[in-house]
Amino acid sequence: MIRLEGVQKWFGKFQVLDAIDLQVAAGERIVVCGPSGSGKSTLIRCINGLESVQKGRVVVDNIDLTAGKRNVDKVRSEVGMVFQQFNLFPHLTILQNCTLAPMRVRGASKEEAEATAMKYLARVRIPEQANKYPSQLSGGQQQRVAIARALCMTPRIMLFDEPTSALDPEMVKEVLDTMIGLAEEGMTMLCVTHEMGFARSVADRVIFMADGRIVEQAPPEQFFTAPQHEKTKQFLGQIL
Ligand code: ADP
Ligand code: MG
Repeated sequence: MIRLEGVQKWFGKFQVLDAIDLQVAAGERIVVCGPSGSGKSTLIRCINGLESVQKGRVVVDNIDLTAGKRNVDKVRSEVGMVFQQFNLFPHLTILQNCTLAPMRVRGASKEEAEATAMKYLARVRIPEQANKYPSQLSGGQQQRVAIARALCMTPRIMLFDEPTSALDPEMVKEVLDTMIGLAEEGMTMLCVTHEMGFARSVADRVIFMADGRIVEQAPPEQFFTAPQHEKTKQFLGQIL
């Protein structure tokens, strides 16, 4: 479903991604972790074309992102993304946040888009908030809206960039539970997160990044109990 080959990326003279090779199969659940500044966000932003790469190939669902702008648009409509800062449109209601892209990008009718939105708002357990504005919701609720909004585009892949890092502790679980639900339904997921409990219970594979490289990857059991690389051990020592 996702294939990165020899990806390199620079911001000016600073190399942020180096020799990234990564393959993700349909239905696979990947957790990406690593120190701040190691390139995790940049990596997942490359997968939906929010960032371009200077070298190598990025292929998502057989669409080569490195072969033209039209492909970037195609991939974006198949890949849902959820950010640390929920990024909801503040001047639109929850329902309007969820129907905007399906109507504009997919050409759905208002009725159709609203029915789909209500279905996903029910899935994330906040249908009763549909007519409120983002500022009237808690952080955890806003993040669940962000997930529902992404699902309204019926993505084949979901990318999460530290979706619980900006939340108060008591709201982390409700968002993780929503993500666990998605994983159980077989969604292909790539999650940057330091929620190691989530990684242990949900991930098929944990990827550890440092200095723009994938330093180590392994199934969670192996990753947590027998990390190979010195940098991985150091990192796990700091967060566990
Ligand atoms: P992470 O998500 O692992 O914390 P990022 O991918 O956000 O890391 O960033 C990796 C490095 O690239 C950091 O040193 C960051 O400062 C730098 N960086 C990220 N985005 C930009 C940008 N748009 N311009 C210049 N440098 C950037
Ligand atoms: Mg980041």
